Amino acid sequence: MRSLSCVLVLVAATVAGAAGADPWKLDDQFKAAKPDDLKDVLTTPAPKGAVVLFDGKDFASWVKKDGKSEVKWTLREGGVMEGVKGHGDIITQEKFDGKFKLHVEFRVPYEPGGQGQGRGNSGVYVQGRYEVQVLDSYGLKSGKNDCGAIYGVAAPAVNACKAPTVWQSYDIEFTAPKFENGKKAEPARMSVYHNGVKVHDDVPIPVDNTTSGLGGDPSTPGPILLQDHGHPVQYRNVWLVK
Ligand code: MG
Repeated sequence: MRSLSCVLVLVAATVAGAAGADPWKLDDQFKAAKPDDLKDVLTTPAPKGAVVLFDGKDFASWVKKDGKSEVKWTLREGGVMEGVKGHGDIITQEKFDGKFKLHVEFRVPYEPGGQGQGRGNSGVYVQGRYEVQVLDSYGLKSGKNDCGAIYGVAAPAVNACKAPTVWQSYDIEFTAPKFENGKKAEPARMSVYHNGVKVHDDVPIPVDNTTSGLGGDPSTPGPILLQDHGHPVQYRNVWLVK
């Protein structure tokens, strides 16, 4: 009888532990391939002249995907914002066109119970249309829907992911598509550095919108969009240089 109650207490403790597990802490089950994967990427402050889109203080530069409603993602200590499940995607008030460079720092939660697209899914959409995927793809052979991919278009050249819970960065050099007489003359192009590693080199994007993007007329400017895919992905230090 005594051993049975011990087991019950143990089971109850395990269930409570799983439910309350801190998604920002790795556990003993997690094995990193190398120590560097557990080190935050160095934060890169906005250079002079950059458009600061998020400095950790507020959502002044952002609205919900409808273009007008107030953002209610969570502000966390350390200049961090966190996606709120069901609240929806958020977009910058300002729209961008031509050539620009976007810097974003992000980290994905540790969700060992999830698989595939169900672990730390979010995304950074350039002009609201072209997604650079955010996902926990640590240690995987990266496909076109993994972290660092231009979603559905191109897999990253290498898997440059750090471990979940660890800060990572994207530096995205974007060139908007060019139109002549209402016809697309040049596709959009993107180079992407993931944690400083070049994973896309001026890749042409043959579509006008990737999955769940804002769409709209691809000859017009578009905002930066951060995706709510139901996971508490965090972002900090978002800026853009025209
Ligand atoms: Mg996504």
